[in-house]
Amino acid sequence: MLSSLLATTNLPKEIETIIGSEKYQQLIELLASYRVGMWLYPGVIKRKIGLSTQKTYEILQSMENAGSLESYYELYCSSCQKTSGIVVRTFNELPETFECELCFSVLPSIENAFLIYKVIDVGMH
Ligand SMILES: [Zn+2]
Repeated sequence: MLSSLLATTNLPKEIETIIGSEKYQQLIELLASYRVGMWLYPGVIKRKIGLSTQKTYEILQSMENAGSLESYYELYCSSCQKTSGIVVRTFNELPETFECELCFSVLPSIENAFLIYKVIDVGMH
């Protein structure tokens, strides 16, 4: 069901406890445009809802536990501030180092890997 929107009825109720009902409503509105297979960037949630980094990861973790999202690591070039396009499922799959295609910097993966989330279940059962 590629056309299905992320069902906000599927949002874990604990998220409302974590961020409060006003931000919870904002989150519902924001998530309404996401479909299965789309990437959800923590930075977008953080900025648009106005959350701390810690709370952002807390609610994303909660959605992952509920089966709506799946976390991945994306390698990001800290020299030119661009994504490398390298995305892996688990931390163990990260290469020791990677080369940025744009600025040719060779960077250690561990310090340049960021969590991103893929929408895997829109909750329409
Ligand atoms: Zn670069």
